[in-house]
Amino acid sequence: METKSFYKEPITSLRNRHHQLAETDKEFVWHPFTQMLDYTEQDSLIIVEGKGNHLIDIDGKRYLDGVSSLWVNVHGHQHPEINKAIISQVNKISHSTMLGTTNVPAIELAQRLVEITPPGLNKVFYSECGATAVEIGLKIAFQYWQQRSNPKPKKTKFACLQNAYHGDTLGAVSVGGIELFHNLYKPLLTKNICIPSAYCYRCFLSKDPEDCQMACFEEIERILEKHHEEIAAFIMEPLVQGAAGMIVAPPGYLKKVSDICKQYEILLIADEVAVGFGRTGRMFACEHENVSPDIMTMGKGITGGYLPLAATLANDKIYEAFLGEHEELKTFFHGHTYTGNPVTCAAALANLEIFEKEETLAKLQGKIALLTQHLKKFEALKHVGEIRQKGFMVGIELVSDTITKEPYPIEDKIGIRVIMEARKHGLVIRPLGDVIVLMPPLSITEDELTVLTDVTFDAIKKVTAG
Ligand SMILES: *Cc1c(COP(=O)(O)O)cnc(C)c1O
Repeated sequence: METKSFYKEPITSLRNRHHQLAETDKEFVWHPFTQMLDYTEQDSLIIVEGKGNHLIDIDGKRYLDGVSSLWVNVHGHQHPEINKAIISQVNKISHSTMLGTTNVPAIELAQRLVEITPPGLNKVFYSECGATAVEIGLKIAFQYWQQRSNPKPKKTKFACLQNAYHGDTLGAVSVGGIELFHNLYKPLLTKNICIPSAYCYRCFLSKDPEDCQMACFEEIERILEKHHEEIAAFIMEPLVQGAAGMIVAPPGYLKKVSDICKQYEILLIADEVAVGFGRTGRMFACEHENVSPDIMTMGKGITGGYLPLAATLANDKIYEAFLGEHEELKTFFHGHTYTGNPVTCAAALANLEIFEKEETLAKLQGKIALLTQHLKKFEALKHVGEIRQKGFMVGIELVSDTITKEPYPIEDKIGIRVIMEARKHGLVIRPLGDVIVLMPPLSITEDELTVLTDVTFDAIKKVTAG
């Protein structure tokens, strides 16, 4: 890729600065989801600038942002409209509290979110990250059954899916289903009901997805029939289990879950933190199957990937159960200090405006088809087990043997090696174990999509050949 210095300083002093910062990073910063013993100064890619769909590091080298800075960026970096909205809000006020007072961007954004989400979701509760949005959804669902007019106090558990990821705080981990991240913390977690999920490539019933008639759903029916009286809510990632490796649910699965939840009086919490804001080709994943959940969580793309903001939406039935006289204590006693921060809400409003102005979703459809086309050639690679795609969410699962589906030994670090190879060629991506994830900004151009898939293809080919 082209190399270009954005600095007036001489190159040598920049090199020194890079080295010094990398050392300081290694000495003082504890990185998330990172084995720090493996993390070397050479690994540290120090990002100083973003422009459109590219990241620029401290040496002036440009990289395509192939995972949208961890699934958040929507319209590219430094979009003038979002920058302008943030700066203009900072020039008014950067923060005031939502506890007892309110602010203009938070009000306007709540109204917009209600307009664009599935019918019924009329109330917006703000927080700062996906995990807190999930915590809030879980606590609201629990409290609802305790204090609604015809209470069902036995409903204290959550149904959740294997391979689910809902964030890293303890409540969110309690409804998570990824052994690698969640197992150790079991003694700290609430007891929930974990249901096998539809991971068709590695079907727990060893069925062929072509003619299984979604047999795995019978397991859900069986468990809910038995346990519905103790289940407050069913939480799931609609259409795609992201962090587990972009596991795409069979069509109709979400709708079936929604229907059975209604049948058994179980609230449905749709965690749209990863899939929301256009990722799957529609604004929200629930739209694909005409599902209106009782509670919806959103985060990641809500500000276009600029600032930390999240929201939990609830329907009127739930909201009304929290209304009462002061002394009835039906209040939702929950709130994070920076909830409804006006700068983040202003960014989110600008993000939504761009969706309309630039017709982002309409333009996305052709790019999704092009991506599908580019992904076809990966089938020829000897170690590509499965290629999963829903809209702009892609997972390429690498295996040591495609016949037996045998995974690579963990010490091979195959995923990490592939992304480090891609980085040499100007592409920043991040794997989930042995699954190579592609999740570009929705604003990526057709030419950049070709670069994204070509560089990834070559990196997989090179690393898996050895
Ligand atoms: C990323 C993610 C979360 C957690 O969001 P954070 O902002 O990292 O706390 C929750 N749910 C899903 C589905 C996610 O992908």
